[in-house]
Formats: sequence, structure tokens, C-alpha cells
Amino acid sequence: MDPITFVLFGSTGDLAKRKIFPALYNLFLEQKLPQSFSVIGLGRKTFTDAEFQHYVEQSLRTFSRRKPEAQERLEEFLDCIRYYALDVTNKEGYVGLLKLIQEREEQLNIPENRMFYLSVAPEFFDVIASRIKESGLGDTKGWKRLIIEKPFGHDLQSARELNHKLSQSFEEDEIFRIDHYLGKPMVQNLETLVAANPLLKALWSNQYIANIQITASETVGVEERAGYYETAGAIRDMFQNHMLQLLMMTAMHLPARITEKNVRQQKIHLLKSLRRLSKKDAANHVVRGQYGAGDIQGQAVAAYREEPGVDAFSMTDTFVAARLWIDDFFWNEVPIYIRTGKRMKEKSTRITVEFKDRFKEPYGNANQAVPNLLTIQINPDEKITLQLNSKNLLHNGQMEPVMMDFSMDASQMPEAYELLIFDALRGDATFFAHWEEVELAWEWVQPVLEAFAENQLPLHLYPSGSYGPAAAHRLLEEQGFRWWPDE
Ligand code: NAD
Repeated sequence: MDPITFVLFGSTGDLAKRKIFPALYNLFLEQKLPQSFSVIGLGRKTFTDAEFQHYVEQSLRTFSRRKPEAQERLEEFLDCIRYYALDVTNKEGYVGLLKLIQEREEQLNIPENRMFYLSVAPEFFDVIASRIKESGLGDTKGWKRLIIEKPFGHDLQSARELNHKLSQSFEEDEIFRIDHYLGKPMVQNLETLVAANPLLKALWSNQYIANIQITASETVGVEERAGYYETAGAIRDMFQNHMLQLLMMTAMHLPARITEKNVRQQKIHLLKSLRRLSKKDAANHVVRGQYGAGDIQGQAVAAYREEPGVDAFSMTDTFVAARLWIDDFFWNEVPIYIRTGKRMKEKSTRITVEFKDRFKEPYGNANQAVPNLLTIQINPDEKITLQLNSKNLLHNGQMEPVMMDFSMDASQMPEAYELLIFDALRGDATFFAHWEEVELAWEWVQPVLEAFAENQLPLHLYPSGSYGPAAAHRLLEEQGFRWWPDE
């Protein structure tokens, strides 16, 4: 791998502490970082290099998957790190930053390969990108790349504006947009699961699949994020990005040899084939909800509108369910049901594929048969389950569902940020969101945002600790289906 300077904006923030430094450290331990590697942490606070290295050490001791054991290795890692105090809006500060980066490049004999990671609030994305350009930080003799975190805009218009601004300083193939769901091992496994197993590949279409269900439910409420969440809701926070990415990763049809290019082409094809909703249709295909008071695992919890920082009459969605259709050769007439919510009964991210019951008639005893279900559990544990029907001779030959399952050993599994940072350092953008995907996803969501803003859909209150509003069940019942597992 090329020697690299990793420039981390927002290095004193929450994400850096909990995810980014631990990811770098684990990559270092696994010898997945280049031999010459320089990290420059940036923030507004004043730290000496030694103080900042001590701060990073504390973050590793608290949050790293592998705890620092050998002091020598830890010191070697910390020694790569320098700190530079910079207010990102201050133009002059970037001159000093460039000087420091160049000094380190010279000392360590690193060619000018610079990775800029913006772990800061999105309102700073464009100012930082343009300062990188103006200051000469981006004029490298090697390569430059930019990593940004969601949210990419607040709606279609603001996403386009942001992208336009970023594109003044970075080319599209230099921008790595993190959607950390794409870094989850089971999500990264989806494409292979289908493409490399003829058994599944042959069945992966409207011929054999009755419907697809994608759920991301959380038991937590809004926590301390009310300020942000009141302006976002579940539709922006989860649906526009993570949920649509999960849909694309599930519905892809790929050759067995998977490349960045064909993954991207497939995702863009699927998003283009998603049947658009008008503002008026939204009421028939989308359900929005908000949690009321209730009970989570025996503990009474407050309603969303009673949470600190939330408007007492807030209409913000903490739950969204939708029925989508992909109008292409493979998926025509297969409904795809997506739901995501806070304060739900269980914490679970999973994809369930329900197969058609084509042999109902010949067997005659179809009433006992359950549909074949393939469930890919992404969180909290990572496993694949296949539900089949089997005859139980101990019960008079009665048909019974049996489960086959495979679990990944999560304790050994790299974290999403490790996989994603490693890919970005190598320049592999397979598991990052391309601008065209982001834009198409906003295009699909935009009429729904407008229908929400104009209150064209009811806001269903659901009790905390439930599976969400009853209306989300009706979305499936209209085609004769239900959410699995049976709720
Ligand atoms: P944070 O508020 O904890 O940290 C932000 C950092 O930006 C801090 O280091 C702060 O000092 C710095 N900063 C703010 N204003 C600055 C200025 N004018 N000049 C220089 N530095 C400045 O935020 P966070 O939780 O670490 O999130 C960072 C980004 O990652 C955000 O875009 C957020 O949406 C995204 N994100 C965070 C998480 C998470 O789990 N924390 C998850 C997904 C996405």
C-alpha cells in the first residue's frame, strides 16, 4: 500500500474517539497500514503532540476492539500521530497545516499521498474542501482523497449544492462517502452470498421470490441528538441512506467476479428502476410514525414529544415504513417492504426474503407449510437463517418448519470503520456511496419529504416497545403478506 498522510479534521470529536482511532490502530496491528504512515489530528483545542497522543491512547483503551497490550507496538502507533490546532474556517491556519504535513512527508519519506477525513459537522464540508484547494494542500504530486460522513445534504436540492461545491476541489473518484452500513461484514457478504451460490442465484428473481422485507429497528430513543433529529427524522437519518443501500445490496444481480464497477452499475440501475412515488401516492405506500410513552424491557420510557429538546407538538417521524417496487426484468411485481424505527420492541437489522409457495397444490397439506424464508441478520449478531419445511415422523409425519443457520463469530470480526478506512486507503470505492446513488436516492425520497412537510400523511403514534404502528402491517396485508418473524 502507498505511504500516506492521514489528515483528520474533528480529531477531538466523538466519532474519532470511538471509531476512527480504534480502526486505525486495529489496521496497524494487523499490518494493514503502509510502512510509512503519518496521522495529523486537527481540532480547535490546544494540545501538544504528547498530550494528544495520550488522548488517543485513552480512546484506544476504552473503545478499541483489541486492547493495547504490547507497550512497544502502542508507542510505535502513537508515534505516527501529530496534532495541529486549527479552526477550520480560518484561512491562515491552513498554511501552517501544509507546512507541518510537508515536514512530516520529508522526515518519513512519504510521497504526497493525502487522505483528508472530515469527521466534522456537514456545514463545514464545503469550506474545508475549498480551503484545501486554496491553500495548496490539495496540489499533491501523489494522490488526494476526501472521506466524508453522512448526512449528504438535507434534501435533493441541498445535496446537489453540496456536491457541486465539493466537486470544485475534488473529483468524484477522489470522494469516499461513508455509509457505515456498507462496512458491516454481513452487508459486504450479501453480493457474494447470491453471486457465488447457484442455489440462491437461480432463485433470485420474481419467479421464486414473493417479497423482500428490510428492517432496522432500535430500542433506543432520540438520546441527546434531538437538535439534529428534529430536523431529520427517520426518513433522512436512516431511510434515504442506509435502508436504500441495504435494498440495493440485496437486489443486485452480479456476475461471480465482482468488481467495483459492476457493483456501482447495478446499484445505479436499481435506483433508476425504483418506481417513483408522487406526493399523492406517498399516503398509500408510506407509513410514518412517532413513538409514544411505553415500556422497553420492563422500563417505562417517555414519549418522543417529552424528550429533552423536542418540540411538544413535534411532527418528526421516528418510524418510517414503505412499500417499494423495482420495475425491472428480475424484480417486477415483487414488493419490497422497508421499515425503520426507534423505541421498537427489539434491536435488529435484518433482511428477510420470502419465497413463493409454488408447490402448495400438489402436496395437499399446504396449510401446515410455512414459506421458505432466508433471513440475513446484520445486527446485533451476524447470521444467515434458512427456514425449510420438514416431515416430523415423531409427530405423525406432520410437516414442521426447521431452521438451518450459520453464524459469524462476531468477536473476531473487524468493525465497519476498519473495513471502510482500509478500502479508502487502497482506493477501492466498492462499499462507498457514489454521488449518482446519493442523488437518485434523494430523488426517490424527495416527494415523501414534501408529503411529510405538508402533513399529507397521518402521523401514527405507536407505543414504545412495540413493532410500530398497525398501519405498517397493513402495507403487507394488502398483498396477503406479513412481517417475519411472526409478530
Ligand atoms: P462531534 O461534535 O463530537 O465532533 C466534531 C468535531 O469537530 C470536534 O472535534 C470539534 O472540535 C470539531 N469542530 C467543530 N467546529 C470546528 C471548527 N470551527 N474548527 C475546527 N474543528 C471544529 O461530532 P461527531 O459525532 O464526531 O461527528 C462527526 C461527523 O460524523 C458528523 O458529520 C456526524 O454527522 C458524523 N457521524 C457521526 C457518528 C457518530 O457515531 N458520532 C455516526 C455517523 C456519522
